[in-house]
Amino acid sequence: MINRRALLRAGIVAGGLLTGAAASAGTAVFARTARPSNGTAPDRRPATPDQAWAILREGNRRWVDDTATHPHQDADRRREVAQKQNPFAVVFSCIDSRVPPELIFDTGLGDLFVIRTAAQTIDPLVTGAAEYGPAEIGTPLVVVLGHQRCGAVTAAAKSLHGHEKLPGELSTIAYALRSAYTRSGGDVDKMIRINTVDVVNQLRRDKLFAPRIAKGELKVIGAYYSIDTGTVTRLV
Ligand SMILES: [Zn+2]
Repeated sequence: MINRRALLRAGIVAGGLLTGAAASAGTAVFARTARPSNGTAPDRRPATPDQAWAILREGNRRWVDDTATHPHQDADRRREVAQKQNPFAVVFSCIDSRVPPELIFDTGLGDLFVIRTAAQTIDPLVTGAAEYGPAEIGTPLVVVLGHQRCGAVTAAAKSLHGHEKLPGELSTIAYALRSAYTRSGGDVDKMIRINTVDVVNQLRRDKLFAPRIAKGELKVIGAYYSIDTGTVTRLV
């Protein structure tokens, strides 16, 4: 494996990727942010929602291909973001141990705001967490990420089908999924996708998000993660 840090120090990766035809926009941005040439930390965050999504897609392609570069996961980056963070996306996904956003998008420290709840269900507290980045520091992208074989959706579907209340606050999760359950006809994979789009639509109507979306400063998109292949596919 290439010693990426050494190459970055020499400026080879940063320069090469920025001009190389094969280089992705995402990797180029990471290469530039990884080693500021003038000793300061310029704001290289992608300016638009589409640029932010392109970086995530490219990182996911590396994850799928087993060519992940694990950017921004060293002490240099820790120091770089110690005083200030400027993540380029909010990823709102499930608690599932097989769906960690930083890994499946091949990102690192200071790159993403990550929110995780069972079946990415939402309430005012979670909405507030999602609002923070876009409203306070202009984060341009929110990705709601459902995933294959979601255990929370499966358990909710079973509970709703059998009219059996889940114990404790687990019943709250099933309650949040009841509309998706009805419209899916009980098909768990359909229910996962419907719920993901429902959460996207809910966030798009959010009072802090709607005006930013109208101005093109923010996009809220929905995607689906395949546990089998590692691929993230956009739904909406
Ligand atoms: Zn899940």
